Amino acid sequence: MAHQENHYLLEITQPEAETILKRSRLAIIPTGSVEQHGPHLPCGTDHYAIMVIARRVAAELDGLLLPFSHAGVTPFHSSFAGTLTLRQETYINLLMDVAASVIKHGAKRILILNWHEGNTASINYAASQLQQQYDVRCVVAQACYIAAQLYQDEAELTHAGALEALPVLAYRPELVKLERANNPSPYEAAKEMDALRRSKTVYPLLVDIRQIAPTGWYGDLKIVNMNKAQEMVERVSKEIVKAVKEIFKRLDLDI
Ligand SMILES: [Zn+2]
Repeated sequence: MAHQENHYLLEITQPEAETILKRSRLAIIPTGSVEQHGPHLPCGTDHYAIMVIARRVAAELDGLLLPFSHAGVTPFHSSFAGTLTLRQETYINLLMDVAASVIKHGAKRILILNWHEGNTASINYAASQLQQQYDVRCVVAQACYIAAQLYQDEAELTHAGALEALPVLAYRPELVKLERANNPSPYEAAKEMDALRRSKTVYPLLVDIRQIAPTGWYGDLKIVNMNKAQEMVERVSKEIVKAVKEIFKRLDLDI
């Protein structure tokens, strides 16, 4: 059953938060990044992208949506002003402390919703540690990869390209300035480097985004419009809800 009321801890009262947690035993941690996204998207792009999706997912799954750091782990964007990065140990400790707080109040399942690839290694480490230290199960959803999969015929997952512009447009349209997107880096070379670092077999670790995109971003923004933006947020959220429910069922975590 979907519970449509607000599930965001910063915006609800203590009794409401406690009720959600008691009912579902599920806490949701949204995570993104603060980093440059070219001249057309805000530095909070990854944060807004995950928040617009997380609000829907939390309502559908009846999970308590927690506030988390806007900043993530992104040393490879730090050659540009406007980028904040956390050390991996800071991020891991923060994630574990936030999770431990809700575990103390009854959370048995933690869903980590991520939009930023640079966070992944730290998320996996923290989630594994949480499972070893507490009676809790963690599930990770990589929202940007789900978007890439759903829209593979229309757009590639590129830094500050269409798939990043769409969720921000759906959530905070006044922050998207497509008319300023006049300096994309050369597409083919950037795509090749991205494919190399995203390989599952042999891959380099990214040092500086300029190795991929000298101007800090690349991609095509042709498909970006409000209808597509709303549709994308809807589709990605639905896909996450479906996959998470399936995993909970398989792991017998349907509390
Ligand atoms: Zn981004």
